[in-house]
Amino acid sequence: MRAVVAAGQTALVQEFNPDQDGWTLEGLAEIFGKGLTKAVATAIPPHETVVAVEPWIAHSRIDMVTRHPELGLIVTDDKLHMELERRWLPRREAESQTSWQLHHEAWAVSRTMGEPVEWARHHLIVLTPRAWTMYVMVRMGAERLAMWEADALTVWAAMEGPPYRRPQACTLFGGCVFQRGCWTLHGDVSKFPTFYAAKEA
Ligand code: SF4
Repeated sequence: MRAVVAAGQTALVQEFNPDQDGWTLEGLAEIFGKGLTKAVATAIPPHETVVAVEPWIAHSRIDMVTRHPELGLIVTDDKLHMELERRWLPRREAESQTSWQLHHEAWAVSRTMGEPVEWARHHLIVLTPRAWTMYVMVRMGAERLAMWEADALTVWAAMEGPPYRRPQACTLFGGCVFQRGCWTLHGDVSKFPTFYAAKEA
């Protein structure tokens, strides 16, 4: 939950722009406070006991690990949304089902605790137009996590090799800033000063 608080505070303090969206800082603080209240109230479902809060495992800070008497270990990842219209919920739920991060966390907890994680979930925390939360449950289990590990080993091996372009990511989140380097300069780093200023070490 601390990660959610930090994300909210960052959004409020660093990304606040009074010229955008018609929000005031006070209004945003109130919205965030209501969302946080809901989030805390739903953080630990009934019948579950907390095993670990924000442990660092396999390069990931996991929001929470709990245990359910019948479902076993459950990994929770909090996700803060400024807005999420109900009509987009099916798409958001589908994204959770194949979330690389969520699978990574379930795999990491399984390996560390020597016990398969059977379920993981996104704890969605939506701030506007009114605060609400929900869980998106994702079935894990040994077979699914073994396949994720095989995928991950392939990806990690590729990261050790020469760089290659990943077109599926180029236009995400408003577009990657390296598009001209990759697609106009064809990865020729010696020409990068044409478009990019070098950062000081
Ligand atoms: S433009 Fe960005 S996302 Fe696309 S291949 Fe280059 S570095 Fe990767």
